Amino acid sequence: MNFKQNELTFQLMVEASPNAIILVDNLGLINLINKQTEVLFGYTRKELVGQKMEVLLPSRYKVNHPNLRNHFLAAPQTRAMGAGRDLFAIRKDGSEFPVEIGLNPLETANGSQVLASIIDISERKKIEEATKLQTKKIEAKNKELEQFTYIASHDLQEPLNTIISFIEIIEKNPDRVYNDLEKDSFKFINQASTRMKELIKGLLDYSRLGQKSEMKNLNFKLLVQSVCHDLDHIVKKTNAKITIGDLPNTCGYETELRLLFQNLITNSIKFMDPEKAPEISISAEQNKHITTFSVSDNGIGIDPKYNEKIFTIFQRLHGRKEYEGTGIGLAHCSKIVELHNGNIWVESEVGKGSTFYFTINSNIKNDEKI
Ligand code: ADP
Repeated sequence: MNFKQNELTFQLMVEASPNAIILVDNLGLINLINKQTEVLFGYTRKELVGQKMEVLLPSRYKVNHPNLRNHFLAAPQTRAMGAGRDLFAIRKDGSEFPVEIGLNPLETANGSQVLASIIDISERKKIEEATKLQTKKIEAKNKELEQFTYIASHDLQEPLNTIISFIEIIEKNPDRVYNDLEKDSFKFINQASTRMKELIKGLLDYSRLGQKSEMKNLNFKLLVQSVCHDLDHIVKKTNAKITIGDLPNTCGYETELRLLFQNLITNSIKFMDPEKAPEISISAEQNKHITTFSVSDNGIGIDPKYNEKIFTIFQRLHGRKEYEGTGIGLAHCSKIVELHNGNIWVESEVGKGSTFYFTINSNIKNDEKI
């Protein structure tokens, strides 16, 4: 292809571009436009060429624009216009629309010119606005729900405490001897109330998680060692062997993460295979600011069909006679992981053991938490 043909191809490409392309000279006059400029702004080529380019700007930008243009020409370089600001253009019919503009300086036979490439971003803006609105609504709903849980749990505790104390008064009444049925009834009322108290406490703790915490840099090896130290009693009782691998130092919410490890390790011991002592291994892999932790055990395992159900509050796979518990532990873990913009999941085989994985993202600011 010779030079003339190249030039022609280039012109055709500019003409066919999906962006509006405008060539502006050093006096701010429009020299050339492509087809898309006509479509986007509603002017014909004839109407625009030779006009000041400010004709395409809303009046509030017109005064300052020549200064900005001269500034650009004094030190021209290819760049996006109005970095970090919302830019708008105006059509022939006076309607405004949001745009993204790229500026390219050109040295031509007629002096320095600027090639501006303009994209209408109305649709993108609409989607962004809709997403922002949706996120705000979800945040408000979450707050409302947390508030509701908190108030409800508080209010539920009061009548329960009254029941417990009155039952104690009746049970300990020195003037009466109770028959076996009555004694059993007191025992059941007491057990049921105590359990209800545990459940409510779990709900309250759940709604409070992450409320007052600050992100800080944590030594995870020390953190997990200290959690294991707190669990010394049940570790010794069950002959559990806990292996802690190389864990990184990374950012997180300390109290919540302690609770998370405590729940996972306690479960690994609680759901042990009765035939063998628990063997638990804790390790981590770091990839930039995402760390994936794993807590694996050689316990009874979980049927994969329950892999998601177990993370829901109050969901348990066994009766209380088999294994003590409230079904809140993994819901807590799930919320704590969410606070760290992470995920939690389990891989398991019945009779072989389970590995719980969770990720935490140390690249979140305190005000970004959910
Ligand atoms: P809880 O321990 O109070 O029952 P969780 O929310 O901690 O409640 O766990 C929910 C259920 O998930 C448990 O009842 C148990 O059936 C199952 N589970 C949790 N961890 C393990 C584990 N390491 N091995 C086998 N099953 C487990």
